[in-house]
Amino acid sequence: MNRDPVKRGPADLVREEILALKAYHVPAAEGMVKLDAMENPYRLPEPLREEVGRLVAALPINRYPDPGAPELKARLRATFAIPGGAGLMIGNGSDEIIQIVAHTLARPGAVLLAPEPSFAMYRMNAVIARMRYVGVPLNRDFTLDATRFLDAIAEHQPAVIFLAYPNNPTGNLFPEAELERILEAAPGLVVLDEAYHAFAGRTFMGALGRFPNLMVMRTVSKLGLAGVRLGYAAAAPEWIAELDKVRPPYNVSVLSQSVAERVLAHVAALQGQADRIRVEREALLGRLRDLKGVTAFPSDANFILVRVRDADAVDAGLKARKLLVRNFNGGHPLLANCLRLTVGTPSENQLVLAALAECA
Ligand code: PMP
Repeated sequence: MNRDPVKRGPADLVREEILALKAYHVPAAEGMVKLDAMENPYRLPEPLREEVGRLVAALPINRYPDPGAPELKARLRATFAIPGGAGLMIGNGSDEIIQIVAHTLARPGAVLLAPEPSFAMYRMNAVIARMRYVGVPLNRDFTLDATRFLDAIAEHQPAVIFLAYPNNPTGNLFPEAELERILEAAPGLVVLDEAYHAFAGRTFMGALGRFPNLMVMRTVSKLGLAGVRLGYAAAAPEWIAELDKVRPPYNVSVLSQSVAERVLAHVAALQGQADRIRVEREALLGRLRDLKGVTAFPSDANFILVRVRDADAVDAGLKARKLLVRNFNGGHPLLANCLRLTVGTPSENQLVLAALAECA
């Protein structure tokens, strides 16, 4: 008898829908001006960096983190006005929270619904968790087609709806009244992803008590702590209790918990940087609108979506000038010839404007 087992590789063993996925692409950024990932371009103030250094030196990293993260959670509640009655969960970035939500709600046949174009990880996590993904196209100007969206809810009865507020990569806030209609019509959980909250000044956090099916998800990444990897989500305690079963117990490290807690004690410094970025965004938007061959869309976030005549050529021109932006051409049809520019420092924005004036 032949006891040699038949060897099977990834092509035989990996689920078909995973084989069909493309990994989230992060291009090499060495030597580039990095305007592709909506990071805050400013470092922490020097005294705060030193304080963080001393804190890290004293941390007991031989121990697992406290999975309940009481100090960090208290800091998040106080800093971001999370209602006392709401449950709170933390994630290794809000990316992980999206994943946890999808896995928790992935009953056979359950639907995850989101507008399109929006954040790519909604669909990706639906596929990975074996949920059925339904994308509802936005209007050509990236506004929500409320009738179509409500019809899709009625037809597909989604277990969860993800809505980015403001939306990525389009930059706009959907009207509050439309989101309220969606919250009322939705049979399941509605996650409002407020990743760009610091630049929008609008939030549904205060509405948690009014909508038992609302979850408000945020990240500290865009606020200046992208390297820390911390996201948080607030919702009715009954939702958070179930999601917490799926969350890996030590998902946010001792380092991340402590550094975030300490830096958020100085949140005014970060919000001050966000406010500068907001001012810069408006200045950049005005200058972009003066450029021939560039259509710049309004933004409530820390990035601006632009449409050019030939996005691939312009992207190549920017790369040649060491400027890294995100090219959406060839993805969703509504994003044909669109590039997304993170708002950088005034000098970085100057470089982008000069390069676009030559390439667009
Ligand atoms: N939601 C949206 C809308 C985003 O744009 C991003 C980051 N690009 C995230 C969530 C994930 O953020 P993080 O994992 O850094 O918290």
